[in-house]
Amino acid sequence: MDRAIRIHQNLLARSHLTVVQLHQVHLELARDFIAAGLYDRAEQLLRDLSDESPDLNATAQRHLLEVFEAQREWSEAVVTAENLIALSLSEDPLAAGHGQSVHQLRCHYLCEQAETAITAQDSSSARQYYHDALRDNGNDLRARMGLANASLLEGSSKEALGHFEVIMASGRTCTPELLDLLSRICADQAGEGAYSAVLQRYYEQQPAPLLALTLAAELEAEKDRAAADHFLRLTLADNPSVAVAAALLLSGLPEENDQPERRILEQLTQNKQGYACDHCGFTGQSRHWRCPGCRHWDSIHYLGAVPQDAHV
Ligand SMILES: [Zn+2]
Repeated sequence: MDRAIRIHQNLLARSHLTVVQLHQVHLELARDFIAAGLYDRAEQLLRDLSDESPDLNATAQRHLLEVFEAQREWSEAVVTAENLIALSLSEDPLAAGHGQSVHQLRCHYLCEQAETAITAQDSSSARQYYHDALRDNGNDLRARMGLANASLLEGSSKEALGHFEVIMASGRTCTPELLDLLSRICADQAGEGAYSAVLQRYYEQQPAPLLALTLAAELEAEKDRAAADHFLRLTLADNPSVAVAAALLLSGLPEENDQPERRILEQLTQNKQGYACDHCGFTGQSRHWRCPGCRHWDSIHYLGAVPQDAHV
């Protein structure tokens, strides 16, 4: 890295460079500084480039986003994302589209600010950031989950449920953390808002094994095991699933059975596969809004209870 910086600095010392070449070397030097973690120096170079070179303006501002992301300077990142969106509308249609959409990035930067506000128990500021985050995509999962949490903080479970209904309708895959949020929203609700009633509606929209098993557990708690098994058996006809079949077999085992098959069936019904990044393949047991492997935003998705190829 030192060598790369030295080479680019030596290039700058040559007097015969054209303005375009000079800007190009500045850009390379800024990239070196980012790679070396010298963010202040990178930021200054990139800001100058953005002002001086119409051709490299969008590229320089995309790199500025990297600088702000690395330093978690979210308000600066929002301003730069807004500049890029404006640029894409006026002069450079590509300004919004190098790498991830800048609209999506802006949304996550605002969600980061909102989460800081939530941590400080400032639900009112969080709410403003989240609403702003929904400007370009009203279905955004992170912002909707955040608004549901902010509503819960303010004691309004009914409003929280409204945000959750948007998530349900958006078609995003149901995950354990979404079910955790839903159970908190429904904790003190009855009728249409009761946990089992919402789970039923959710399952009708998205017949996933995770939802079937969670709803069955609720049915068992409310009624009995037979009601839960009856529901699971009905679901298998239209939505075959190894996890659901395993739950039924497990239910049929005598209580005293502690043979190896019990352990295997239990594993098949549990959330063992975790999450994986669509972009780089990183895997983990929890959702990250930004992939620790490739730094992409919202590219990590839930894999389900059992390997996909085990579904019949
Ligand atoms: Zn990744």
